[in-house]
Amino acid sequence: MMNAAASGRQRAVVIGASMGGLCAARALAKHFDEVVVLDRDEIPETPDDRRGVPQARHYHTMLGLGQRTLEGWFPGLGAALLEDGAVLVNHGRDGYAFVGGAPRIRCESSFDIPTCSRALLEHHVRRRVASLPGVSIRPRTTAVGLSKRGGRIVGVKVEDGSLVEADLIVDATGRASRAVRWLPELGFETPDAEEVTVDVGYASRVVRRVEDARRDFRLAMVGTDPPQRLGVASPMEGPRWIVTLVGYHGDHPPADEQGFLDFARSLPSPVIADVISESESLGDIVFHRVPSSQWRRVDRMKNTPDGFLLFGDSICSLNPVYGQGMTSAVLQSEALAATLGRVPATDAAFVQAFYRRAAKPIAMLWQMATGGDLTLPQTKGLKGTSGSNFATKLLGAYMRRVMGAGQVSEMVARTTLEITHLLRSPAGLVSPGMVWEVLAASRRAGSAAPRDFTGQTA
Ligand SMILES: Cc1cc2nc3c(=O)[nH]c(=O)nc-3n(C[C@H](O)[C@H](O)[C@H](O)COP(=O)(O)OP(=O)(O)OC[C@H]3O[C@@H](n4cnc5c(N)ncnc54)[C@H](O)[C@@H]3O)c2cc1C
Repeated sequence: MMNAAASGRQRAVVIGASMGGLCAARALAKHFDEVVVLDRDEIPETPDDRRGVPQARHYHTMLGLGQRTLEGWFPGLGAALLEDGAVLVNHGRDGYAFVGGAPRIRCESSFDIPTCSRALLEHHVRRRVASLPGVSIRPRTTAVGLSKRGGRIVGVKVEDGSLVEADLIVDATGRASRAVRWLPELGFETPDAEEVTVDVGYASRVVRRVEDARRDFRLAMVGTDPPQRLGVASPMEGPRWIVTLVGYHGDHPPADEQGFLDFARSLPSPVIADVISESESLGDIVFHRVPSSQWRRVDRMKNTPDGFLLFGDSICSLNPVYGQGMTSAVLQSEALAATLGRVPATDAAFVQAFYRRAAKPIAMLWQMATGGDLTLPQTKGLKGTSGSNFATKLLGAYMRRVMGAGQVSEMVARTTLEITHLLRSPAGLVSPGMVWEVLAASRRAGSAAPRDFTGQTA
């Protein structure tokens, strides 16, 4: 048994060494003598996929704000990714985005994102977090329960029968968090969850990337109108492409060779199907399903144990189409650092103070993701969220105009990209200058024909 109190040193334990757990550990490292990050997986020394993060085998992008914040924490991270083969993508200039019935106009956007496999990004972030003072990562360590003393969680029970005691325990085990089930067993409340159904299926394949002068993009994203089906070809180190196909509401891409290609061919631009058919395949097609966006409302709980936090996807897991999950973990880490700077982690007010602070960026992401999805008629908002309310319909109608305008106006395309990447407030969508430009440009684009909008991130 490891005893934090007996040693007189302050120890935090994080369960889960994926992007959520790593972001949490980075914030904790400044305030605890020791931060132990446990993961049930063998953690590879190389940038490889692992069992505990199956979604890493699908297209993953960091949003502009997440990327900028990570670079601020770890200067040189972007350069190290590029050195290892990541491709710098200026989404406005280098991204071919065919959504809403036509391609978005090319524009120079204000941010560039080193684009690579999720495994390479996690590998570099993990190395930097592990080198922070006091941080250690312990692989092959499965948490099976929590230990409590009075109203406080004081330790993590591990599969081998040992107990890891700590002054603060952070659950970053993802959407399927088992800690949420352990809480009621210990007499605490389970958080209520809000849910918006999307039933998206992802099918992905990695193929070899060779230079081809006919391709005028570094990243391509194509969506049907309305956006029921999507396809992305995104560069990875290697050099490789990851091709990911997505279908909403049960219209899932098949994971067999012919079905995968046919699904890509059903998209309104041939570029994704061309990448598949013209490239050498480097592996099997893999499939992943996400039933809903889910937000566990920990910020509304009355009976939270001291010494224990949910974090990352354990709190909020969003429709991945918007590419927000890792950035959410980054923003939650900023919230954790700010809370630790004001309230000692041992204080009774600490847990609620963190949950309230983290709820602000989460609410913004939730609004953006579910607002887009609720414009699709099949989307259902559970727990009182409705797809038919007036504000959602109005927003949907306006966003159809924005989409049309982005096909002819660089200003609209650039502003929309910056909002999607969280580098500009969503309020920028309705600034007088933007509304004027949207109305004028959407007339130019002939956008009277109905279009749908989900605001995906290519
Ligand atoms: C198909 C798909 C595509 C996505 N695309 C994007 C994208 O483009 N951009 C983006 O930002 N986000 C994307 N996401 C979301 C992103 O993957 C997550 O938000 C991100 O990984 C942070 O999650 P997390 O660390 O909280 O949980 P997870 O990534 O789920 O990690 C949980 C960790 O906990 C460990 N663990 C679980 N149980 C135990 C236990 N009992 N004991 C010890 N360890 C345990 C696991 O091994 C794992 O390492 C996507 C998600 C999916 C499903």
